[in-house]
Amino acid sequence: MIWAWWPGWPKRVNVMYAGYIVESGPIRSVFKTAAHPYTIGLLGSLPGRDISSDQDLLFIEGSPPDMIRLPQGCPFEPRCAYRTDPCAVKNPLLEQVGPDHRAACWNLEQVSASRKRESASKVTRSQQP
Ligand code: SF4
Repeated sequence: MIWAWWPGWPKRVNVMYAGYIVESGPIRSVFKTAAHPYTIGLLGSLPGRDISSDQDLLFIEGSPPDMIRLPQGCPFEPRCAYRTDPCAVKNPLLEQVGPDHRAACWNLEQVSASRKRESASKVTRSQQP
């Protein structure tokens, strides 16, 4: 769920998963440099300008956790492509990832590095004849 609030036009967005804010920051920053794997998955499921009508939208595999029996670790862990052992043990707290932009994930550096590699490969592919 992406939830935004502000009097008038929203300037900030909080991304929530299983009752936790997993990413929070200025809308432009969160949309341009999403840091949490759930936010990245949500944004990846939005139809882009270049999507054709016969193209399937991306989706996040799996289901949200049982809210009565939340896991002790990161609640997104069963669905996360970036999960590592610590993810199942303890739920991460929000950390600064940019000016006024925070995200809760044990693997923020790995996620960021992976996103940069994907962007670079898209640029390379778009430059091919
Ligand atoms: S803490 Fe681990 S499981 Fe949770 S979002 Fe980050 S990488 Fe994925």
